[in-house]
Amino acid sequence: MSKKEKAENPAKETKEPKEEKPIEAPEAPTEAEAPVAKKPAKGKIKRKKRIGKKIYTLYKIDGETITRVRPFCERCGPGYFMADHGNRFACGHCGFTRYKVAEPAE
Ligand SMILES: [Zn+2]
Repeated sequence: MSKKEKAENPAKETKEPKEEKPIEAPEAPTEAEAPVAKKPAKGKIKRKKRIGKKIYTLYKIDGETITRVRPFCERCGPGYFMADHGNRFACGHCGFTRYKVAEPAE
């Protein structure tokens, strides 16, 4: 009886590798699909959509009065807003930097 069981076991083991073979088959089509997917990637260059500066965000309209959120650049004149970098304002046009007046620390 024990001999028969031993004979059956190897038979079962041989069946398992046979089941693994079909798994390898699907890999072939994926390789064929890969070059197809590469073709559009060559022609298309992903470019980020440039978002506008949103100038309207620099103005605050309160009724009939307009207040400018950020100051103009002293060198470039009106129309050139300076960027707020926390402790300083910087002009992106000429590079002028105006440090904010340091408030006395309490
Ligand atoms: Zn400037």
